[in-house]
Amino acid sequence: MKPPWLKKRIPPAQDLEKIKSILRETTLHTVCEEARCPNLGECFSKGTATMLILGRICTRDCGFCAVEHGRPGPVDQGEPQRIAHAVKKMSLRYVVITSVTRDDLPDGGASYFVRTIRAIRSVARTIKIEVLVPDFKGDPSSLEEVLEESPDVLNHNVETIPRLYPRVRLQADYERSLDLLKRSKERYPHILTKSGFMLGLGEREEEVINLICDLRRMGCDLLTIGQYLQPRADRLPVARYIPPEEFEQYKKIGEEMGFRSVASGPFVRSSFHASEMFQNHL
Ligand code: SF4
Repeated sequence: MKPPWLKKRIPPAQDLEKIKSILRETTLHTVCEEARCPNLGECFSKGTATMLILGRICTRDCGFCAVEHGRPGPVDQGEPQRIAHAVKKMSLRYVVITSVTRDDLPDGGASYFVRTIRAIRSVARTIKIEVLVPDFKGDPSSLEEVLEESPDVLNHNVETIPRLYPRVRLQADYERSLDLLKRSKERYPHILTKSGFMLGLGEREEEVINLICDLRRMGCDLLTIGQYLQPRADRLPVARYIPPEEFEQYKKIGEEMGFRSVASGPFVRSSFHASEMFQNHL
């Protein structure tokens, strides 16, 4: 049973109806809706949303993730324009663009991130754009392609401590993810780098501190830490519900290590308060 601090009121449906109808009309998907995120109303009302590009089928199968995995269909060529249209209609001030992992595409989908960024900027010049990218199988040219567009924030989540990768992120590689963050900072120091991970998968305190330390060594600027919640019965079980005080401790540790901003708490997700994290720490 979930502990009391994890009970959160889901916003009333009518508050979200306008946003949802725009998404339906443009046949787009937000991660916010897909993941039934408890922060959805809060983020939408602040003009922030996370758009999912490149389909809904992932070529990987991480143990914590509810996204369908398999062989994705062809890429929807009209998607960047429809996203731009929706962003304008929703009057978003901050948008996060993310994708499933597309190991089937030669560039891992980098060119679609580029097209989406360009399409959004053509209709909303002042909007802030965060890209939450996959690891592009470690291909530096795919990462470079995205960074050349100068997104405001480059986000790539490590998700968990390295010891748990075989169970949690089987097809990923901890060092490869760290390298992506390091390379981004070295190549484009003006772009803020961000990463995040979940607690509650069986990690130990010293492993969490080492992970925070590793991310800081890569020059990572922004950090998110949240509670893992099992999305479906066939996904990894929750090993432990972390009390809010422990999240606070990790926040303090991260700030002392020099992160510009750390969001740490049971409800924190990768894009939670993304706009505030960006604005407050320029
Ligand atoms: S790569 Fe991302 S979308 Fe794909 S299964 Fe893993 S967490 Fe889910």
